[in-house]
Amino acid sequence: MSITVSIGVLSLQGSVEEHLRLLSACEGVQSFPVKSADALNRVDGLILPGGESTTMARLLRDFQLSAPLLGRIRQGLPVWGTCAGLILLAKQLVGEPSHLGVMDITVRRNAYGRQINSFSVTDSIPPVADHPLSLTFIRAPWIEEAGRGVQVLHTLRGKITAAREDRLLATTFHPELTADPAFHRYFTGIVRGSLPV
Ligand code: GLN
Repeated sequence: MSITVSIGVLSLQGSVEEHLRLLSACEGVQSFPVKSADALNRVDGLILPGGESTTMARLLRDFQLSAPLLGRIRQGLPVWGTCAGLILLAKQLVGEPSHLGVMDITVRRNAYGRQINSFSVTDSIPPVADHPLSLTFIRAPWIEEAGRGVQVLHTLRGKITAAREDRLLATTFHPELTADPAFHRYFTGIVRGSLPV
């Protein structure tokens, strides 16, 4: 039996409950919502959920969480951003200033345009799971460019949709809106340090 790890979900806005539900399906994981510096100090890993990135960035500042979060990420805290959460992590956003600016990716917001605001595809992501995964995109961004230290996990129509840079994980889609905990297990592996890059 492995040691229990604590994984928090930033709970200022967005799809928090859905992430907590899938984390509870992962073995050896204790999970809880995070909206204070105190709670942030207790996590071994953190999920930044989907939602609206500009609102979440503003709430991070209002709750005085930006600096403590940046501090912990710089010390090596594993963080997984889904959709809006990924936008918060990116070093570059096309046409607008970045937020946390910690992951070496260039991201275009709302990249798929109005006509396909939301869609799903099924595809294999071998580093993550040995079965096909359902990938749900909601007003999704795409990753336009990734730095040399970034491992591309998945692409769709030539655009990067999932990537990892050491302890940072980013998905433009929403694994928390499926019933499959494969991505949550994969992130737990990163938190445990059992998945070398
Ligand atoms: N379109 C949102 C943004 O730019 C992200 C959408 C999502 O998280 N589902 O912040």
